[in-house]
Amino acid sequence: MFYAQILTLFPEFFDSPLSCSIPKRAIEADIAKVDCIQIRDFSTDKHRTVDDKPYGGGPGMLMKPEPVVAAIREARRRDTKTHVVMLTPSGHRFTQQKALEYVEKDSLTLLCGRYEGFDERICDEVDEQLSLGDYVLSGGEPAALSVLDAVFRLLPGVLGSPESAVLDSFTEEGILDWPHYTRPEIFEGKSVPDVLLSGDHAKIEAWRKTQAEIRSNVRKKKA
Ligand code: SAM
Repeated sequence: MFYAQILTLFPEFFDSPLSCSIPKRAIEADIAKVDCIQIRDFSTDKHRTVDDKPYGGGPGMLMKPEPVVAAIREARRRDTKTHVVMLTPSGHRFTQQKALEYVEKDSLTLLCGRYEGFDERICDEVDEQLSLGDYVLSGGEPAALSVLDAVFRLLPGVLGSPESAVLDSFTEEGILDWPHYTRPEIFEGKSVPDVLLSGDHAKIEAWRKTQAEIRSNVRKKKA
């Protein structure tokens, strides 16, 4: 079973997304398990403080090292083999290859920041820093959810058709999925390409491969 722990100030953020569709299926089939750990539970003062002002001044607050590091250590105590990932815009970009790598790890701990981010010394406690992309979210929770969703659909037995994940975009680095069509055959004057109606499987496969290459090259040029 794939074990995910989420270190967060907002465990409730995950209630609805994990209780529908693919994540729900993975959890109900005992293919994946998710535990949220409330970082605030590791604060030691009576106000349950988790943030403080930055040294040197500047706007906003930072996540304090003591409760965050204690929460990370609790996750490692629960599973000594867990791979701890800090979600931060400064991290390496999350990709499909990374999702495939995480599947092999069996246990992932995702650390979600808030405010202006983390005290830098917390970085020494994690195995990796990961970014969802070059933009700033208000918290690590949407990033953690995206990572879990991408990983869960790759776990054997989660998707109805195991082939789906193998044919997805980026399984082969830089290669996008081909265009898909379903009924009706003509929609608002736009027809399904003839080749898809031909019943010639070799031709269909060749057409799909070419279309995927065209799309991938267009995207590479835009990047
Ligand atoms: N001051 C930080 C900066 O400019 O890099 C942004 C902090 S952001 C408002 C609060 C938290 O959201 C971060 O600590 C991180 O956990 C999460 N976050 C924001 N953008 C993210 C991204 N692109 N990828 C992963 N996590 C992100």
